[in-house]
Amino acid sequence: MRVGIGFDQHRFVKGRKLILGGVEIPSPQGLMGHSDADVLVHAVMDSLLGAAGLKDIGYYFPPDDEKLRNADSLRLLAEVVEMVSKDGWEVSNVDSVLFLEEPKVGPYIEEMKKNLGKVICIPERDIGIKATTPEGLGALGEKKGAAAWAVALLVKCMKERK
Ligand code: MG
Repeated sequence: MRVGIGFDQHRFVKGRKLILGGVEIPSPQGLMGHSDADVLVHAVMDSLLGAAGLKDIGYYFPPDDEKLRNADSLRLLAEVVEMVSKDGWEVSNVDSVLFLEEPKVGPYIEEMKKNLGKVICIPERDIGIKATTPEGLGALGEKKGAAAWAVALLVKCMKERK
């Protein structure tokens, strides 16, 4: 078994959609980034890559790659899941925390779990997504951005895929 950790943070800007866990959430501003800036999915990707002993998200999906402009991060997560499973790993579970002042994301968490479960190919109960607020503290408390942490546990498959 191997555990991995992931962290990501993006700044809020006007004129972008807010996408978290693959769900478009009504908000006057979205996260700035080269892809869709889905901070939760990026943290989950890095946790999976870390657990598998691979390099980080910036190595496989460089921010200057034009093909990745406004990319759907769930599609990038699918590529990471494929890389990890090619190395003979199965995802046991993923847990995560979303950290932002607003908007309230509670009503969207079940849909985020559904999206992640579908891409990672594990039941929704094996995906944890919690949301908490900075309580007004620091830059995130001033609504300047959003952050996410994730951990993943991988289990070596008995049959390795080629
Ligand atoms: Mg990111």
